[in-house]
Amino acid sequence: MFAQEQTHLRNWINGEFVDPVSSDVAPAKYLPVTSPYNAKVIGHVPLSTVEDVNRAVAAASAAFPAWSKRTVKDRAAILIRFHSLLTKHLDQLADIVVLENGKNKAEALASVLKGQETVEYALSLPQVVQGKMLEVSRGVTCYDTRCPLGVVASVVPFNFPVMVPMWTVPIAIAMGNTMILKPSEKVPFTMTKIVELLKEAGVPDGVVNLVHGTAEPVNALIDHPDVKAVTFVGTSHIAEAVSQRAHRLNKRVLALGGAKNHMVSAPDCNIEMTSTDVVNSYTGCSGQRCMAATVLLTIGHQQELIDKIVAKSQALRAGSQAGQVGPVIDQASVNKITRYISESEASGAKILVDGRSWTKEHQEGFWVGPTVILHTNKQDAALNEEIFGPVLSILAVESADEALEIENANPYGNAACIYTNSGATADHFVKRFSAGMCGVNIGVAVPREPFSFGGWNKSRFGNHCDITGDGGVEFFSTRRKVTTKWVPQENASWMS
Ligand code: NAD
Repeated sequence: MFAQEQTHLRNWINGEFVDPVSSDVAPAKYLPVTSPYNAKVIGHVPLSTVEDVNRAVAAASAAFPAWSKRTVKDRAAILIRFHSLLTKHLDQLADIVVLENGKNKAEALASVLKGQETVEYALSLPQVVQGKMLEVSRGVTCYDTRCPLGVVASVVPFNFPVMVPMWTVPIAIAMGNTMILKPSEKVPFTMTKIVELLKEAGVPDGVVNLVHGTAEPVNALIDHPDVKAVTFVGTSHIAEAVSQRAHRLNKRVLALGGAKNHMVSAPDCNIEMTSTDVVNSYTGCSGQRCMAATVLLTIGHQQELIDKIVAKSQALRAGSQAGQVGPVIDQASVNKITRYISESEASGAKILVDGRSWTKEHQEGFWVGPTVILHTNKQDAALNEEIFGPVLSILAVESADEALEIENANPYGNAACIYTNSGATADHFVKRFSAGMCGVNIGVAVPREPFSFGGWNKSRFGNHCDITGDGGVEFFSTRRKVTTKWVPQENASWMS
């Protein structure tokens, strides 16, 4: 899959791969990267330092004046070529996602295509980012234009190696910014391929730079005075810390965090459709999606729905083909997921489908199978905390009010869904869920462009709303307001 020289990854700065900076006393450090399918080491990622970030910011700063002076049409034209290159390399990119992240091939292909959708939105920006203009008094006209911010940084998680970086890169650069991306150290290969495609498309050197590593380069990016804005996607406690650090420096920041998404099944829901949708939602990408269904609250005890969910979960097989369930990212993740299952069992929950069997059956790799837990104790940690694996917690509640009370009390607020055949019931829940992205009969209710993506509560921190779509345009630009007068006015008031 990778050429020998690529197995020790290098940063991408000013349009070329460069080794991480070694200090006078020690060589650069690397972390092994493993494939979740078999735990084999597939390469090494450098632990970049402040010096590496300084080099990348210098390159991005140098590229900014020329890039920002180009028209948005000119920048979008380059993204049209990038879009074609993504299509040309779709299969190869999906294979890298499978190898380093553990998705099945169909999920990997879909994730690259979803990333490509945000490129499509970005290349349409010449049609949607015009400012407004109004004669505000006789002879006096105001207009506004969107200006780029300068150098921006984007820090991304492991679970979507292409799609999440594509939430920021295309819009940020189409709006005239230059940027530094910090991929997840667990999946560093896909974006290493993508930066080469950006160059092939015509993105000038220094416009997109890539610095590998973990916390040190992230903090260095936030602290660097020439980095004007930071986006982050990852766990909530780090998102909150990133947001606070950026706030202290009065820096623009959007930090998306973790999730605990509640699904509510009303007694009138379509049982066949609901069971299929819930199983797809909680097992898709092995449950490693911030939009995955994790808690199903049934209004009343819905045995037929539970039986179907159990049967559909038991029918799933481990593997990398479409319809199969892949591994989770690493051993720490296996340990965390199985701990939640065991703790629920110990507190009296029934494990209706037990994914721990996959952990025992597989000699190699990081496996936990689909798991369905029927809880009786509302305090079970599995019901309340983010697990990030293929685990569904089911709890029967007595009423719509009790379902909403549980959903509203959870500290996260990414997504929530109501399964019903009644428009009135759907409306009731959608208006009362404490979540930024709501679904009606859709367990993975991802808003698509031009809508933006973003949760509420502890699923999103920062002083700007959402990512992708019009929220992305808002985040990656600032407005210049201009007021003009060309003709002297008779009887002019102080306003004119
Ligand atoms: P993570 O928080 O461990 O890592 C995210 C990024 O932060 C990585 O690039 C990592 O290298 C970096 N990082 C690690 N430690 C850091 C530190 N101390 N300071 C600064 N940066 C640090 O998250 P993950 O495990 O890669 O991803 C899974 C999490 O991401 C889940 O919680 C999931 O819900 C969340 N997620 C949220 C969204 C969303 O839109 N809300 C989307 C995708 C994933």
